[in-house]
Amino acid sequence: MANYIAPYDATVIKKLRQAGAVLLGKTNLDEFAHGSSTENSAFGPTKNPHDTSRVPGGSSGGSAAAVAANFCIFALGTDTGGSIRHPAAFCGVVGLKPTYGRASRFGLIAMTSSTDAPGPITKTVADAAMVQAVISGRDQNDFTTADVPAMNYEKETGKNIKGVKIGVPHEYFLAGMNKAVEDKVKEAIESLRQKGAKIINISLPHTKYALPVYYIITPSEVSSNLGRYDGIRYPLPSDPAVLRDGAGIPNPSSRYCRDEGSLIDLYKKNRGRGFGAEAKRRIMLGTYALSAGYYDAYYLQAQKVRTIIIEEFEAAFKEVDVIITPTTPDIAFKFGANKDPLKMYLEDIFTLSSSLAGLPAISVPCGIVDKMPVGCQIIGRKFEEGMVMRVAGRFA
Ligand code: GLN
Repeated sequence: MANYIAPYDATVIKKLRQAGAVLLGKTNLDEFAHGSSTENSAFGPTKNPHDTSRVPGGSSGGSAAAVAANFCIFALGTDTGGSIRHPAAFCGVVGLKPTYGRASRFGLIAMTSSTDAPGPITKTVADAAMVQAVISGRDQNDFTTADVPAMNYEKETGKNIKGVKIGVPHEYFLAGMNKAVEDKVKEAIESLRQKGAKIINISLPHTKYALPVYYIITPSEVSSNLGRYDGIRYPLPSDPAVLRDGAGIPNPSSRYCRDEGSLIDLYKKNRGRGFGAEAKRRIMLGTYALSAGYYDAYYLQAQKVRTIIIEEFEAAFKEVDVIITPTTPDIAFKFGANKDPLKMYLEDIFTLSSSLAGLPAISVPCGIVDKMPVGCQIIGRKFEEGMVMRVAGRFA
């Protein structure tokens, strides 16, 4: 899809244009939003503006780096398991994943349809409030969008936090994480207490299952969603022009098709050539998890545990208004440091559960460790991004 130009605007883009935004361009990301470093991009990696030997995070790493490097005032990203919050934390900017269904996904490339959420990456919480207010709302082209009116988020960010109940789950402060990162987040929590918030220790015991659950559900949905990239409808730039003519239907009498063998062979070869390693890995994992005989053991089981994770959050939000955690277990890593896919998956250990539960969550900068930014995550009740931004607004 290197030279692909979208024939229409996504709803979020249309709304930004209508509000007078000047759109500068598209930014780099991990292929099909799979990853946490932009190293999976077919265009090459994006570098972290704070230290160019380090990754910017991902998958929306280009968006976060562009904001951090002052190329633009704000950018959009999509967050399926952390792809707005993770690069925002690594690049020292603000990243808001709104509630699932808060902003339309019409015109976006689908990754995991049950968690995908577009949202803003900005320099300040007030800017995130402004952009989120514009892109929020019901869209008849996306029936998962909710008919809940957007709040005046900007007004919310200005409010004080006296009496706001903040939950701190001990499961998000792991033994293996960077102690200096943990300390920064704890300092931020203490400063919120001094500003009048009430800090309450809570427990979310199923947090440890978020990662395995996510990596069953996501590849399953990915394997289905990527089915539309059959290697014919969106041909590779290197494919002969015959495939790009008209409706993109291959001409079986062309030399190209004869050389490739049957139509099935053509699909297989083109799909194989078009996808990068991570996309292929997820298609295979997902196809396996959904196949007869394994569906109950993997996919169904993962959905059941997901329900428990959702219920656990619901119970916690009866006691507290927001939940605070680190966004990532460590600062931005060096290029090539996470070659093992499982190690890369662990990057999102703190962002996945709120994605599975469809809750709004923001990452705000909360300090510097080894000259690199640290992010703090604030998770809220469904459609309460106003409260999330109110607490985030007190970080300045
Ligand atoms: N890094 C996570 C993954 O690879 C999240 C990606 C995302 O939110 N798009 O799945």
